[in-house]
Amino acid sequence: MTDFQGLVDAVLAGTPAGDDDARAVLLADDERLLEVVAAVGRLRRRHFGNTVKVNYLVNLKSGLCPEDCGYCSQALGSDAPILKYSWLSTEETLAQAAAGLGAGASRVCLVASGRGPSDRDVERVADAVGELRARHPDVEVCACLGLLREGQAQRLAEAGVDAYNHNINTAESHHDAIVGTHTYADRVDTVRKAAGAGLSPCSGLIAGLGETDEQLVEALFALRELGSESIPVNFLMPFDGTPMAGTWELTPTRCVRILAAARLVCPDREIRIAGGREMHLRSLQPIALHLANSIFLGDYLTSEGQEVKADLEMIADNGFVVLGADRQRARATTPPATQGTAGDLAIRRRARAPSSCRTPDERPAGPRRLSCRC
Ligand code: SF4
Repeated sequence: MTDFQGLVDAVLAGTPAGDDDARAVLLADDERLLEVVAAVGRLRRRHFGNTVKVNYLVNLKSGLCPEDCGYCSQALGSDAPILKYSWLSTEETLAQAAAGLGAGASRVCLVASGRGPSDRDVERVADAVGELRARHPDVEVCACLGLLREGQAQRLAEAGVDAYNHNINTAESHHDAIVGTHTYADRVDTVRKAAGAGLSPCSGLIAGLGETDEQLVEALFALRELGSESIPVNFLMPFDGTPMAGTWELTPTRCVRILAAARLVCPDREIRIAGGREMHLRSLQPIALHLANSIFLGDYLTSEGQEVKADLEMIADNGFVVLGADRQRARATTPPATQGTAGDLAIRRRARAPSSCRTPDERPAGPRRLSCRC
């Protein structure tokens, strides 16, 4: 029987976890769940203390994507009833970002659907980032625009973007079962281009895509080797109208073990609970915070998240603090025209299109999210 405390002692002493260690965590019995969390949570405390980084997504462009990622409601051929639009104006981008920052976020993720940006798209994002930085000098900006071509990462870095997200999503050995219009190597190439331009590489995965335990472990080690500095862990939301509709492979305890395995393999990286948090972790969300150190606030790309107030209360109730909370208090003194509030955010959330992801028993809505990230 695996000694999880002993395993973590070894990692803390400088011996990186291996495949077997990750598998042991992933396959631990439910009755040992709290033992796993108590042990692996020590790694989270070592590197991130009791802080939770809060991120906010601004969906710059929604739907209309020519790619065929099987999990994505924005993909070619998806019938999912999502809001589709082409590029928010800079003012609307800034207003949405301000709402997220005012509600507690320290990082804004600017996301656009599509295979990748044109140079004109990159300039549009660069302009918005320049304005965002002028109004919120301490904001951290992540861009997520798809596959990058030569020179685009450099341009984003010059414009003030801090990080670039492009998820590997799944193991190389499982990738082609999920998407056919681009390759795993294409994805890795973009993460490397971003890192090469000085952007902090952000790359993660989606669990529940039909991958085996071995493939999940393979993906975690690939992320470690790729040098991903922040790792979003999505849990598949099997939207109606997508090829993955009806795929339900996850339980709340399985999701906690996946986060524990991610922390064990990548102890000092930012582990972010992303799409599917409420739907799949459900009442175990607070336990998951003992492993992950980062969450999204508010909605995801095409679906609704938990109320902002509930997220912030969950963080505080469990003895965690929002990273940068001091800066946010200072921000609260800025003029109303340039800041957002939790109230603004709630209003913006209601303005978004509803998702259509049903749980197997078709319970009424509840928290609904889509685990789509480029
Ligand atoms: S994940 Fe990104 S690239 Fe894939 S279909 Fe969705 S929007 Fe397009």
